[in-house]
Amino acid sequence: MPTTTSPPPADVEAIARADVVLENGAGLETWLHDTITSSGFHGPLVDTSHGVRLRMVGGAIDPHIWQNPRNAQVMVANIERALAAADPADAGVFRANLAAYTKQLQVLDAEVQRQIDSLANKKLVTNHDAFGYYVDRYGLQFVGSVIPSFDTSAELSGRDIRDLVAKIKATKVKAVFSETSLPPRAAETIAREAGVKVVEGENALYGDALGPAGSDGDTYLKMVRHNTRTIVSNLSGA
Ligand SMILES: [Zn+2]
Repeated sequence: MPTTTSPPPADVEAIARADVVLENGAGLETWLHDTITSSGFHGPLVDTSHGVRLRMVGGAIDPHIWQNPRNAQVMVANIERALAAADPADAGVFRANLAAYTKQLQVLDAEVQRQIDSLANKKLVTNHDAFGYYVDRYGLQFVGSVIPSFDTSAELSGRDIRDLVAKIKATKVKAVFSETSLPPRAAETIAREAGVKVVEGENALYGDALGPAGSDGDTYLKMVRHNTRTIVSNLSGA
């Protein structure tokens, strides 16, 4: 996740003009409240994580809640409620859209579960610690991340690298997965030293953000399918 983000002026203007502002919540948007204050927005700010069971790691909340499609169902229900409250005349539309999208999320969840269940080796090493909710939901085994925290600006020590390489070798991890929003260099180094493949470039996982329009990760549903397909194809086989 980005640690120090100041939104571009166009986004601040969009907030000023908005009827409702939605936040992921779970501690992701540390910058948002100041931005809202400076934008002059006085409408409802809706925390979409409300009702999601949060994961704690090392005393910190893991903000990557959307990586579990069941959490996404909670989040879209929160969004639907907020939109209906802001625009009661269209509440029926929002309700119908919620029902249709929830169905798609349920199909997605079952599909991911089936695919991950098919893996004999479920050991995952990623670029940073973005997939905890996904790992917990589908019974993967998280061995470690290249950046050993949620904070993508954290420094990587030589010792961190040696420890992770040793773990990869000892536990027979098959691949190190890079992420689209992070430079792949450290992941490449670790994979090379451990003698396993690095998954990067077009196959990198979408950890913190969707991909650009036209990419394999330009919607939530596509992003989760891309990540799952990539994980399964690189961890399957003998
Ligand atoms: Zn992140």
